[in-house]
Amino acid sequence: MASYDFDLFVIGGGSGGVRAARLTAALGFKVGLAEASRMGGTCVIRGCVPKKLYVYASRFGEDFELAPSFGWSIGEPRFDWAALQAHKNAEIARLEGLYTKGVEGAGGTVFHEHANFEDAHTIRLSSGRTITAEKVLIATGSRTARDLDGVLGAGLCAVSDDVFAWAELPKRLIVAGGGYIAVELAHVLHALGVEVTVVIRAAKVLRGFDEDLRDALTASMERRGLTLLSERHFASVERSGDEIVATLTSGEHLVADKLLLAWGRSPNTEGLGLERAGVITGKNGRVEVDSYSRTTAPNIFAVGDVTDRLQLTPVAIHEAMCFVKTVFQDTPTHPDHALVPTGVFTTPEIGTVGISEATALNHGHAIDVYKSTFRPMKFTLAGGGDRMMMKLIVDQKTDKVLGCHLFGPDASEIVQIVAVAMKMGATKAQFDATVALHPSAAEELVTMRTKSYSKAP
Ligand code: NDP
Repeated sequence: MASYDFDLFVIGGGSGGVRAARLTAALGFKVGLAEASRMGGTCVIRGCVPKKLYVYASRFGEDFELAPSFGWSIGEPRFDWAALQAHKNAEIARLEGLYTKGVEGAGGTVFHEHANFEDAHTIRLSSGRTITAEKVLIATGSRTARDLDGVLGAGLCAVSDDVFAWAELPKRLIVAGGGYIAVELAHVLHALGVEVTVVIRAAKVLRGFDEDLRDALTASMERRGLTLLSERHFASVERSGDEIVATLTSGEHLVADKLLLAWGRSPNTEGLGLERAGVITGKNGRVEVDSYSRTTAPNIFAVGDVTDRLQLTPVAIHEAMCFVKTVFQDTPTHPDHALVPTGVFTTPEIGTVGISEATALNHGHAIDVYKSTFRPMKFTLAGGGDRMMMKLIVDQKTDKVLGCHLFGPDASEIVQIVAVAMKMGATKAQFDATVALHPSAAEELVTMRTKSYSKAP
């Protein structure tokens, strides 16, 4: 039997790779991990975590405005982007250290180098050193897809990675796209004083989400003074001195200091030498895997964004844990991609789990819909604010809750727990049998007695 340097070699030190490396090393196997950039990957270094810190920063303005209605008077608030960046950078450096420690503490070895395949069992590091491994896990994540249509002036657009390194805020920003990254960063930057114009090709933001969520967010963006240009396409983007000039096919010209491109993310597979290892890639360059995350090479697996299944950190972690169970704990385990809750950290935010009304009908369900909109209590003294929206989609035949869609403060926190109930197959009758927690927004979910409407496919 061949002997290898490592039982498992992981390429990529993001959420999925680190979890697999740490768990496998803790089981007593010999594990190596290569990461060319910073440990922690997109989520920790230039994604979810710093983004959420920005979201907190962006919400103080609203709290300052509400404060007088609760009896507080405060001086003129001032915001310092450089201070936020410095504090964020310190926190990210701390987390990066923990990610390295997590792998090394479990007995794994971290190589701060780029890795690519020489063959299915041999990895070449950028230092020139080669390493052999019995099993290999590809967990290289994804990166912003640049200049998709060739019109966005290569090199002129910023991507989300850049925002996290900006030394100062632009005064005017164009955001191309209406997905998660576009709407989250548009809200953050608008609330921090940037004049933001969002350009989308569709009629609404957040394609694929329940229409009521899309409508609620679109209305709130307009109310807040974010400019949303829908059903528009870019004709060209050029630099003119310090400014970016975007021309739309409608003939409109937009002038800004920066243009943020957020048109989706592509799997990171370039330069890995996958062809030498017998690993086949598919649409958008993603690594093709079976239901156990095994690639076309029997000893090589892949998890996370690089497989382009569901590009979410907790999904990558879940896939990594299933991989470890399957390969190192003799317990074949499929990742389960059903009923994954997700949050969109706009202000107000979105929390959603399960299927939209349109998808329920497309899947042949006759449904009852329960919907409630109300002013969150925090805004009752001052007035104003966005109304909160809660929507449950219930299968008429089984009474099971198929979808829960929330728009408003703490929606992501609420929906995480609703996901537990839905994962257990909760029915609307069981929601109704649960005693409300008063006064809270979440209590509305167990007190919606009267259906708003029914629909059949
Ligand atoms: P998304 O897939 O969410 O959105 C892509 C956006 O780009 C859509 O609005 C889409 O428009 C638009 N688009 C794509 N191609 C074109 C084109 N050729 N011309 C014009 N518009 C185009 O991608 P993101 O980049 O926002 O985020 C990547 C992934 O990262 C997300 O899918 C999500 O899984 C993950 N993420 C999750 C977060 C969270 O959990 N809170 C936060 C940030 C990212 P259209 O609607 O018309 O298709």
